[in-house]
Amino acid sequence: MPKSYAKLGEFQKKYYNIAVKNLKTAPNFSIPNEVSVIAKTLENKGFEAYLIGGCVRDLLIGRKPKDWDVTTNAKPEEIMGLFSNTFYENEYGTVGVVTEEATDETLKVVEITPYRLEGNYSDKRRPDSVTWSSKLEDDLKRRDFTINAIALKSSGELTDLFEGQIDLKKKTVRTVGEPEARFNEDALRMLRAVRIAVELDFTIDSATQSAIASSAQHLKEIAPERIREEFIRILMSERPHIGLILCQKLGLLTHMVPELEEGIGVAQNKAHSFDVFEHILRTVEHSAKKGFPLETRLSALFHDIGKPATRRFSEEKKDWTFYGHDMVGAKMATKIMARLAFPKKMIENVATLVRWHMFFSDTEQITLSAVRRIVSRVGKDHIWDLMDVRTCDRIGTGRPKESPYRLRKYHSMVDEVMRDPLSVGMLKINGGRIIEIGKITPGPRIGHILHALLEEVLDDPTRNTEEYLEKRALDLIALPEKELETKGKQAKETKEKEEEKTLQEIRKKHWVS
Ligand code: ATP
Ligand code: MG
Repeated sequence: MPKSYAKLGEFQKKYYNIAVKNLKTAPNFSIPNEVSVIAKTLENKGFEAYLIGGCVRDLLIGRKPKDWDVTTNAKPEEIMGLFSNTFYENEYGTVGVVTEEATDETLKVVEITPYRLEGNYSDKRRPDSVTWSSKLEDDLKRRDFTINAIALKSSGELTDLFEGQIDLKKKTVRTVGEPEARFNEDALRMLRAVRIAVELDFTIDSATQSAIASSAQHLKEIAPERIREEFIRILMSERPHIGLILCQKLGLLTHMVPELEEGIGVAQNKAHSFDVFEHILRTVEHSAKKGFPLETRLSALFHDIGKPATRRFSEEKKDWTFYGHDMVGAKMATKIMARLAFPKKMIENVATLVRWHMFFSDTEQITLSAVRRIVSRVGKDHIWDLMDVRTCDRIGTGRPKESPYRLRKYHSMVDEVMRDPLSVGMLKINGGRIIEIGKITPGPRIGHILHALLEEVLDDPTRNTEEYLEKRALDLIALPEKELETKGKQAKETKEKEEEKTLQEIRKKHWVS
């Protein structure tokens, strides 16, 4: 097999394609035991069973399948009769088989779907009727793309009726059958085409692309939850920016997040070389490059969504300004995500990151309390996500460095305000209690005792119990005044040195002084 189909000459391609077409068995790769046992169980009872869809596609290109699907001529009740632990997956007769000792997360449930024959699609979403078929071909015909319609038997035998393997070699996403008709049946397939293309780093076949461009408006008929799932997968891929550009060029974006398109051609101020849309794409690109989680990527996507609406020309500055784009952006992000049926908590988190992404970070001018305020606004759990959004924002602006000195200093200050300071407050005893058990009057002695106790606890944290501390407090009270004072002062100094050491360590970690 040639490594790169693209490098073949026309003559070679032609014969290569004929060879692939005649290929009846898959090249060597292994089907996991859990799956082949299931297929063989069906076959032993006289049924047909094929691996189908994304798993076959992924096996053929050496990618790890996300899940395992089997298709069969057995009916749902017949499937259920053959396995001990099963459940109904959906309204289309898919049966989930729970494998007992799965070696891998993806193998815990294997989905078995009877061959399906679909009726008309009058609502551009779902078939009006679904009937079981006895022919594999019927099931392959209803599948979305040629690369997802290759069937594989447990013996290794392939059924590839639509040249899916050739498209795999060409790295092409192409519909099974006439693209326009297939998108008219289920408009979500258009977005799936983009998602699969970016996940696999494939291109979309040109007839398929044209059909998307002319049918894009049908995406409006699709349930937001289904759109959201594909949208998330585009964002979580290695090249979300390409996916967004594809969606924009093919006319899908305008039916999902039209607000993003408002940034196209919107020039920014002198500090920026890109228009708002390009800046957003570059910011998202970096969030993927860093492998950041979904909420960070969504925040990167929406951080400047409020810019077109807030752009004003300042005569004084002779430049564009975007005052309040962070606040407007947070509101817009909330609205967009609610429209796409994102979970409430996720919407809140993303809106908060968008709201505070402009945090002032000039460490020569800010104080620890300003940093403390930002930490309390976004919360300890999300403060580092905010730092990550800033990193992406910088790179998206075209700055060469992810973390210049100033930002590293800021990070160090964040760590500083977030650490639990060493203080007598962490002791399991307080001044009031000492006065009570020691029957003494308030005065500087209390402070000396507390500091002496803190030193003991810092030496050995297991001493931080009421019992131990009360006993030791009584010992300390019994000491002569002068001795206790010296002890208390020394302990306080030791603590301050410890503190200084922790701060040094934090600064060293961030490469700042
Ligand atoms: P992955 O497993 O990486 O998510 P996949 O291609 O397996 O990719 P699934 O959503 O698991 O995607 O779908 C399984 C299979 O079902 C697809 O490969 C395809 O054959 C078929 N399929 C899924 N959605 C559609 C659809 N909207 N129209 C037609 N066929 C579909
Ligand atoms: Mg799959």
